[in-house]
Amino acid sequence: MKILIIENVWMGGRKYSLFDKTLLTMFTILPTLNARHIAAITPKKHEVKVINERYEKINFEEKWDLVNINFTASTAPHAYDIADKFRKKDIIVVLSGLHPSLMPDEAKQHANSVLLGVGELNWLTLLEDYENKMLKTYYQPVKYGKNTILPPTNINLPGVVLSGAIEATRGCPYKCEFCRESHIPGGSQFYTRPVDEVIDEIKNLPQKSFTFYDTSLTIDTNYTKELFEKMIGLKKRFSCNGNVDVLANDKELVSLSKKAGCVSWLIGFESINQETLNDIGKKTNIVKEYKQAVQNIHKNGMVVIGCFVFGFDKDYKNIFNNTLKIIQELEIDAADFLVLTPFPGTPLYNKMQKEKRIITYDWRFYNMKTVVFKPKNMTREELLFGVKNMYKKYYSTPLTTIRIIKSLKYGFFPFILVLERNFSTHMNIRVLFKTKSN
Ligand code: SF4
Repeated sequence: MKILIIENVWMGGRKYSLFDKTLLTMFTILPTLNARHIAAITPKKHEVKVINERYEKINFEEKWDLVNINFTASTAPHAYDIADKFRKKDIIVVLSGLHPSLMPDEAKQHANSVLLGVGELNWLTLLEDYENKMLKTYYQPVKYGKNTILPPTNINLPGVVLSGAIEATRGCPYKCEFCRESHIPGGSQFYTRPVDEVIDEIKNLPQKSFTFYDTSLTIDTNYTKELFEKMIGLKKRFSCNGNVDVLANDKELVSLSKKAGCVSWLIGFESINQETLNDIGKKTNIVKEYKQAVQNIHKNGMVVIGCFVFGFDKDYKNIFNNTLKIIQELEIDAADFLVLTPFPGTPLYNKMQKEKRIITYDWRFYNMKTVVFKPKNMTREELLFGVKNMYKKYYSTPLTTIRIIKSLKYGFFPFILVLERNFSTHMNIRVLFKTKSN
């Protein structure tokens, strides 16, 4: 069977220069893994081609037996266009990824089948059904069990790729109100791969550095400690995600992460307002512990990338300046600032819909850079301006330079990472909010 797998990378309509493409591929924008998971698990008897739209145009004239498209909300309309074109040619189309998993009824209008959840395992069932001419409309995610074996992530990407991708665990049990990942079918089931399998995959990575794609490596601390212990001596460098509760209180885990080769921890702080964190169910975050978490990481010679979201119901106009002040006090080394987005299928979306606060159902605008709902305590314009201004102020030349210079004390690799994150965002501020949709 000839199968085309399309990784419909979210670009928000931005046009990247060759410089950006290379730099971003190497370090910054981490592509989704869906397409490569599916490619990796497809039996070898099939001919598979993976296309990342950022690099390669789709040839609609080529003959395929099956086309699989993976996408999120903001690329959904584009993905549906592609799907419709293939369907017109009587080619079987399978949709998967975050958006179709959360909006399966919508997705099925453009597909023969929809894969639900992060389940490349259900892809295997689908292939069998296809061969037996028994294709179903929906494929529920397969529950992970003791005998589940996930294939190594297929990380062959076009271009120069300096950073590999690994997944040791999947899922997140916390189910924060706005989080898509934990609300897709099966997304809240936490699954740990056997440590030795992960170690073998890390050893076989062609790259010296990689990113753990796990939603958080601090959910099962015993598992993570065993993993980090076994990574000592592998001479690989990595970045990973973690939550404040553990990073502030488990010094052993933080120190082990450094010995294992960790360069940076990405932390979803989300807000500096405890009431907001309580409202959204981010149980892992206690604002009073932010400082301790950052200090533990810094003391061990690693850096912190922070993620902050704006537009929550308890956010007033002063949230921007207050956040900027605290980020600087905490000495966070690089940060992302996002507009709260009620992604369809999440409890936040349901709440906003009930309160009639959703302004548009055009998914292209669901890119975390556009305000698609009515905020409670500021106007839409004030929210967007506030987020843009966060970038402008935080990534101003003086502050960017100071952060880069300060990061020298953490050593070569953390310095390079801070340099790249800060420099590329500083250079790209002008285009960050320029999307086809706005
Ligand atoms: S902790 Fe992170 S991954 Fe888990 S539900 Fe909350 S936002 Fe999602």
